[in-house]
Amino acid sequence: MNDPSVTGGASPGQDDAVSDRARRLASIPSFQRIDAFLNESDYARRHLMPGACDFTLGNPHQMPAERYVRTLRDALTPQHDQWFAYQTNGKASREAAAESLHRLLAVPFRSEDIYLTTGGFAAIALALKTVADPGDEVIYSLPPWFLYEPLVLEAGLVPVKVKIDTMTFDLDLGAIEAAITERTRVVIVNSPNNPTGRIYPPELLRRLADLLEAASARIGRRIYLVSDEPYNRIVFDGLRFHSPAEFYPHTLLAYSYGKTHLSPGERVGYLALPPTIPHRDEMSHAITALQVAMGWVYPNGLLQHALPELEEFSIDVSQLQRRRDRLADALGSMGYRVRLPEGTFYLYIPTPIPDDEAFTASLARRDVFVLPASCSKPRASSGCPSLRTRT
Ligand code: PMP
Repeated sequence: MNDPSVTGGASPGQDDAVSDRARRLASIPSFQRIDAFLNESDYARRHLMPGACDFTLGNPHQMPAERYVRTLRDALTPQHDQWFAYQTNGKASREAAAESLHRLLAVPFRSEDIYLTTGGFAAIALALKTVADPGDEVIYSLPPWFLYEPLVLEAGLVPVKVKIDTMTFDLDLGAIEAAITERTRVVIVNSPNNPTGRIYPPELLRRLADLLEAASARIGRRIYLVSDEPYNRIVFDGLRFHSPAEFYPHTLLAYSYGKTHLSPGERVGYLALPPTIPHRDEMSHAITALQVAMGWVYPNGLLQHALPELEEFSIDVSQLQRRRDRLADALGSMGYRVRLPEGTFYLYIPTPIPDDEAFTASLARRDVFVLPASCSKPRASSGCPSLRTRT
């Protein structure tokens, strides 16, 4: 059956091959542009050629670390006859993840509150479906990670995009407050932020928590916060990362190991609930049911066996910081206005001409591949043309 909130009430005709839900998803403009970029562009044809500079996606630029490879190789050797049996939320992985998160945030996460997923995508989708029903509104800030929109729409939810403070790259709390309606159910926060590299300061997160608490009381319905933090270990200049989960108990924390390990093709991450979250048992039942019903979104066995050891592994963040500095210096000396990112591995830079897509296309003709930030915002609202580039 169709879900009317996703389909707009229309039913497929007799000859339709695909559902309205799928057709609507496939026609999201930013999604189509990304699809064309990945499959039919200069980038698709030439990014692997010798001499090409690929600064687009969060992919590695060097061979994987020996320790990472050895850990996976060791995890491949079966230690008992159930080694390759179905895996769910493996105990050892959950414990390792909870301890590590406890160390990072000084919040005593419990291993039972870690739900293992196939990366951050699935963790975000799981979070949305755990708390929101079709038709509910999900607020996030522009420019967003460009795949929030399909995840939100696929869940039958309504994306509501708000501006950021373009001077500081901070969340614009006034814009978030103004966007809240009786249908608001989730606010997605992404810090360290892709693409701006901003790490939201604790005072801002505290004020956001107060705002969401007051707004939930006003509309008579709990607003949840989904904290998308795959870059929470990719932090520069000795700064400390703070998670919204430290300030707002109604937070679902989505994490992916794909950045810390710089291996986004190995799909592993989790959704974590803070120990302070109310209705924990009810949520736990809902999440475990969804993990199966969404297509067994658990990481595969090999990654689960390797995870306790991989928790201790990280790419060299100081090397990333040196790369950031080198690239920022070079771009600065060419006249670009570069604002140093505090974390992540992206630079978000105003383009010298207003049309950011034309500008990135001209770079692509010279085999320099970057993404226009308009990939991540509706064309109609393009206000601050900029490009986003992997350092
Ligand atoms: N959130 C953000 C902000 C991201 O940048 C990404 C990946 N680029 C993801 C979520 C998804 O991470 P993964 O592919 O590791 O699931």
